[in-house]
Amino acid sequence: MDFKTYIRDIPDFPKDGVVFKDITTLLKDAKALKMTSEALCQMVGDQKVDKVVSMESRGFFFAPILGVHFNAGFVPVRKKGRLPAKTVGQTYNLEYGTDTLEIHADAISPGERVLIHDDVLATGGTALAVCQMIESMGAQVVQCNFLLELGFLEGRKKLEGFKVKSLISY
Ligand code: IMP
Repeated sequence: MDFKTYIRDIPDFPKDGVVFKDITTLLKDAKALKMTSEALCQMVGDQKVDKVVSMESRGFFFAPILGVHFNAGFVPVRKKGRLPAKTVGQTYNLEYGTDTLEIHADAISPGERVLIHDDVLATGGTALAVCQMIESMGAQVVQCNFLLELGFLEGRKKLEGFKVKSLISY
């Protein structure tokens, strides 16, 4: 399947000069949804996974599907202040300023094998923050798995040392 044909470019979203990759056109197509889910699972192979961790909000579409496939739990990472119980936070740099992501402190146990999934790998800042958060909790990142990678932004370089796979590359 040519997955790229299901992804739509939206110019100047969310701000002027950015070409946003819209995956809702892939999600709404029954065949593409099924094939994408299967392909994302295949990218992980037969590695043992205890938890699938994903970040707000578009990572949440496929992460629970990966969890079901690998008989693993799903754990959301959210923006600061959104999770109700005690959290662990990680601050990371944006183009201008910083942002903080949080995870429930009791969501991951030391020694667990964690698969990280997000829809898009752009500069890699978000994924690196999540990897650091998981490692600070004493768990192991087995792979960072993305639906789509914007290769020209070189997010892979930022994630050096982690296993990175993406289904679609631009
Ligand atoms: P990064 O931290 O620069 O790698 O940005 C990755 C995050 O931004 C992911 O959580 C994506 O959901 C989001 N993102 C960046 N560019 C796009 C895009 O073109 N389409 C959808 N999401 C994007």
